[in-house]
Amino acid sequence: MNLKTKYMTRNDCYKAGRKINPKGIMIHSTATPGVMAAAWFSRWNKSYQAGEINRQVCVHAFVDDKEAWQYLPWDHRGWHAGGTANNTHIGIEICEPGGFSYSGGSNMVGYNVAKNEAYFRKAWQNAVELCVKLCRKYRLSEQDIICHSEGSKRGIASNHADVMHWFVKHKESTETFRAAVRSALNKSSGPTETISSIKVGDVVEVKSSANAYYPGGPSIPDWVKRNSYHKVTQAVSNGKPVVRGGRECVLLGRKVDKGSGKESAGIMTWIDKGALRSINSSSTSPQEKQKYYRVQVGAFTNKNNANTLLEKLKTAGFEGFIKYE
Ligand SMILES: [Zn+2]
Repeated sequence: MNLKTKYMTRNDCYKAGRKINPKGIMIHSTATPGVMAAAWFSRWNKSYQAGEINRQVCVHAFVDDKEAWQYLPWDHRGWHAGGTANNTHIGIEICEPGGFSYSGGSNMVGYNVAKNEAYFRKAWQNAVELCVKLCRKYRLSEQDIICHSEGSKRGIASNHADVMHWFVKHKESTETFRAAVRSALNKSSGPTETISSIKVGDVVEVKSSANAYYPGGPSIPDWVKRNSYHKVTQAVSNGKPVVRGGRECVLLGRKVDKGSGKESAGIMTWIDKGALRSINSSSTSPQEKQKYYRVQVGAFTNKNNANTLLEKLKTAGFEGFIKYE
């Protein structure tokens, strides 16, 4: 799946800047025949308060048969559910194909199932892949995925029929969608994406594949990638994420010697988080499968013996804990 990112920084939802801890994914479909994922940027990257658009709406991503466009950071509070699901759910819109119209709310008039089957399968597959990626990133399961109409039944979203009204035409449902995500999750255990987990205090390296500091920004000299790690010293400016070239950036404020770990004055340059790989995180989040070198002192069948040794360790000035496995 081809995922592209460009944040809708002009949308009031983006400007509101509220963060969420994603607990699920809400699947929508656009109810706008024939408008594909890339086209939504110019439609919605507008300010309601400035009178540029008549709806207060923004979702995290649109998916069509060719690609996915991410328009909000995944942990940004979106305006897609018309209910409290905005506080918990990432919103994804699947674009509907053209060649039909709507009447009476959710009645698809003139929708040719056979003609649209190929489009539907590709868009479905892209949505499944995006959900798999997000499930891995936020440690969610397919059970955390609901559609807008299910959200409505649970009282956490407005009364909309998507995506069931469309899926049933292709003999699918939100239930079979979840099953498809489950089966894809089972198939491979791809790398957990850790881009957005990069934060102040982390030591990072610049990916060798990165060319510019951010889209349209200055190019990255080779020595910045090769000679040293860097320490992230800033992620927000005036209380807001720093966005350059449509990407969330952090400041490389300190240099860290690759061998000795010694810090020195940094290059003080903002860089796209996506161009960075975390070397060590200041507080490892649970989704990162960080490996450690562990020191074990003893193993006992009797807990009292373990307690005695732990006390000795602590007296000697070492931190320790008892694990039963
Ligand atoms: Zn919806």
